[in-house]
Amino acid sequence: MNRIAQLSPAVVNKIAAGEVIERPASVVKELLENAIDAGATRIDAAVEKGGLEAIRVADDGRGIPREELPLAVASHATSKIRSADDLFRVGTLGFRGEALASIAAVSRFSIRSRRAEEDGGAQLEVVGGAAGEIIPVGCPAGTTVEVRNLFFNTPVRRKFLRTTQTEMSHVSEAFTRIALAYPAVHLVLRHQGRTLHDLPPTQELRERIARFFGADLADDLIPVSSGDGDARISGYVANPSQSRSNNRLQYLLLNGRAIRDRSLQHALSEAYRGLLLTGRYPICFLRLELSSELVDVNVHPTKHEVRFQDSGRLYSQLLGMLRMKFLSTDLTARASIPGDASGPAIESTGAAASRSRLVDWAKDELATRQQRLVDQSPSVAGPTATDRPGPLTLNRLDALDCGAAPASGNATQEASSHPSGPSFATEQAPAPPPTADRTDAAHAALPRALQIHNRYLVVETGEGMEVIDQHALHERILYEQLRDRALQGSVESQRLLVPEPVDLSATEAAAVLEQRELLGKLGVEVEPFGGETILVLAYPAMLSAASPGEVLRELVEQLVCDSPPPNRRDLFDDLLHMLACKAAVKYGDPLRKEEIEALLAQRHLAIDPHHCPHGRPTALVLTCEDLDRQFKRI
Ligand code: ADP
Ligand code: MG
Repeated sequence: MNRIAQLSPAVVNKIAAGEVIERPASVVKELLENAIDAGATRIDAAVEKGGLEAIRVADDGRGIPREELPLAVASHATSKIRSADDLFRVGTLGFRGEALASIAAVSRFSIRSRRAEEDGGAQLEVVGGAAGEIIPVGCPAGTTVEVRNLFFNTPVRRKFLRTTQTEMSHVSEAFTRIALAYPAVHLVLRHQGRTLHDLPPTQELRERIARFFGADLADDLIPVSSGDGDARISGYVANPSQSRSNNRLQYLLLNGRAIRDRSLQHALSEAYRGLLLTGRYPICFLRLELSSELVDVNVHPTKHEVRFQDSGRLYSQLLGMLRMKFLSTDLTARASIPGDASGPAIESTGAAASRSRLVDWAKDELATRQQRLVDQSPSVAGPTATDRPGPLTLNRLDALDCGAAPASGNATQEASSHPSGPSFATEQAPAPPPTADRTDAAHAALPRALQIHNRYLVVETGEGMEVIDQHALHERILYEQLRDRALQGSVESQRLLVPEPVDLSATEAAAVLEQRELLGKLGVEVEPFGGETILVLAYPAMLSAASPGEVLRELVEQLVCDSPPPNRRDLFDDLLHMLACKAAVKYGDPLRKEEIEALLAQRHLAIDPHHCPHGRPTALVLTCEDLDRQFKRI
């Protein structure tokens, strides 16, 4: 056992660096915050290789006196607080006095600064925590910090870093947060010499939002504000026609600091309850201005989380404000039909079009799949077996064409009433049936089926009944179909007469271009159009009901989500899921008899018809025995 000994400052700083500096983006965040605290009106950030190679942040702030440079890079040295009491009235972004020390401990670091009133500036270099001499330099008023080879002396940490693109997207996010919190500061971000953002100062938060997330979103924002004195909330929330599949676009800027707060995020979801589909998240850009004694920012080393003295009050204030606003705003029309006031007419033609496509698709698909099954199954090559698929396939298609008359009942709701023989039971076998069986199953007569509440199909089976989730089933079938086609490079793509420009954020645009080839496999053709605009040239035919921009945006969300899939294959799979989900009939779509039949007919051809691509079941089975038992007959 060693004796207890005080750790050297170098070790202390490396430990602190572990907490504060996780990746290049953490460095960018700390340096931007220091520049803001120094009263800068313009900040230039330049990054090489996602910050893995170099990060330089230059500001025109008040500068650091020459003799204080060593203190600036020493740990627990700050100009921002003096006593513990000051912790309860922090008015700056920094106060812990450990960022520069931490960064300098794990990189080749240099800081150069000049105060406006001084003639010359001074520079100090620190390599892996070892400071050099202060040397006089000529430089503009302000401070420039350069950080090279981050984690060069902590190889383990370096190993955790991801690709340039991933690191850059984190850098971009850190930059975005500061830029949204400080619209009045001129901010520039460059990557490998390319300007990603050059944001002139503005009084209007909305302008910055448009820069980062496109004019479409900025136009769909609803201004909100509430409170006064020691607790004010103001900013924008998006019309429910705009939402995301994750909560990344929920910006909460507390006294100039972007934070995450579960309770406030919950209030936001509550306010949008019923306005968004499940799995969709609201978008917000909200400034919270709170007296500094009402919040403790000293709970997290990176200060992404804070503790409110009265979080319940803030929760109610936010929820109340949004509810009031939504009551006085007409949201519904836009929520269902984005961008069009003429309403239901468009909606219903859209739905009808998408449905007739369902039937067409089913016909095509049945024909090709059945053909493939015949081609691929030497085991059923006997004279009877090969003869069977042909005529029966035709029968099925005939049924789809003319909607073979049901024996009785509501023609729009009840599917054809062929008696369901015991052969149908094969389809319920949990394991995917062998090819020959699937061919057989596809020949089985269609069961009786009824759509209820525009959501579920209730089907009579040999053993009882099944309740099928129409969306989940369709999604599964489309997913398998799309996957097969994408792997063969034969996704049917629809070329646009006029390519559609889509405004994205810099990170998003970069991600799209990086995955251009992968997107091409899915039938999405894109091209850079200058700045952050991407041109969509073609997109999958099965999604023709959606706009190309909408499709691209949803794909982008998969490309830049917080935890990107570990490899290309998983990413590809995520994109397939997304497209299948988007193209499938929705929970709530009324289906005609032929459409129900088309869907059920396809079911036997899927390899795993029992689960949607997300793994949720597509159907519940109730046997007659289950029912008998429930009714106390047995
Ligand atoms: P903190 O920001 O918590 O005080 P830092 O390690 O980030 O700690 O910075 C230490 C000190 O260095 C700051 O308190 C500030 O006085 C000075 N400093 C750092 N960056 C700048 C800058 N860009 N302009 C002026 N002063 C700076
Ligand atoms: Mg700081």
